[in-house]
Amino acid sequence: MPCYTDLRRQPDSVGDWMGALAVDVTVLCDAVAVFPEGVSDALPGWGVEEAAWTGRVMPGNVRGDGWLLHFHSYLVVSDAGVVLVDAGIGPAGGEGAEWLGVAGRLPRLMGQVGVEAADVDAVVLTHVHLDHVGWVSDGVRPGFPRAEHVVQRDELEHVRGGTTYSNRIRPIEDAGQLRVVDGEIALRGMRLVPTPGHTPGHQSVVTERAILGGDVLVHPAQARWPELTYVYERDPAVAITSRRDLLALAAATGIPIAAAHPHAPLSADASPVVVESGGDVVCAPYRL
Ligand SMILES: [Zn+2]
Ligand SMILES: [Zn+2]
Ligand SMILES: [Zn+2]
Repeated sequence: MPCYTDLRRQPDSVGDWMGALAVDVTVLCDAVAVFPEGVSDALPGWGVEEAAWTGRVMPGNVRGDGWLLHFHSYLVVSDAGVVLVDAGIGPAGGEGAEWLGVAGRLPRLMGQVGVEAADVDAVVLTHVHLDHVGWVSDGVRPGFPRAEHVVQRDELEHVRGGTTYSNRIRPIEDAGQLRVVDGEIALRGMRLVPTPGHTPGHQSVVTERAILGGDVLVHPAQARWPELTYVYERDPAVAITSRRDLLALAAATGIPIAAAHPHAPLSADASPVVVESGGDVVCAPYRL
């Protein structure tokens, strides 16, 4: 496993790190759903303390005694273009919607904020799990007809040949819209940084408003206890290192971490940042 030291590099200032490009980041909540397995099965270190903390700090990730996940995509708009980070669970009938028993609503949310699929210049895939690529294609045609789709090479090699690759990614590759990158890159006012562990080629997106952390933190309690392991992490030790690195970056820059499944972004000390929708329901679109 390569060692990525860039995340631990302390930026001289947020502006230096970001290239000082102003961006708007809008939360698009494709769906909420209760995880199909018990939370202590999904997070083997889960206990009374973790449950009490989550109920108090992030009640939007709790429903009954289950783990309620939000499925957030992030729309990043700047002078450098329109970027979508992750693409939800997808429509009714797709694998993501079938697995979770709910359908995504991303196109409707994009319409609410005045963006059409054809307006999107780039789709960044933090990783290729079915709940992050649901809208990128219908199995035949790309869902975002002009967009380049940016994925790490380690991720593509990990998933190529699998069902999610065949059903969602291959139509993009066939259309010439897949951009494979190696390691840290600058993209349209953002930085893409490798954060492996959850999957081999997982990446996060650093913007001046939020660090879009994908599944580095699948559960908000992992910001409070970074060593709390998710049972489906490909390499738990590496995942813990990536969590610690991203939390250190959040501490150094003061930028919160907006991961895909926590109800709200979290600061480096695991405090939730502004949430405009209350309760355990899908979020209305809002800017970070
Ligand atoms: Zn994942
Ligand atoms: Zn996920
Ligand atoms: Zn939400």
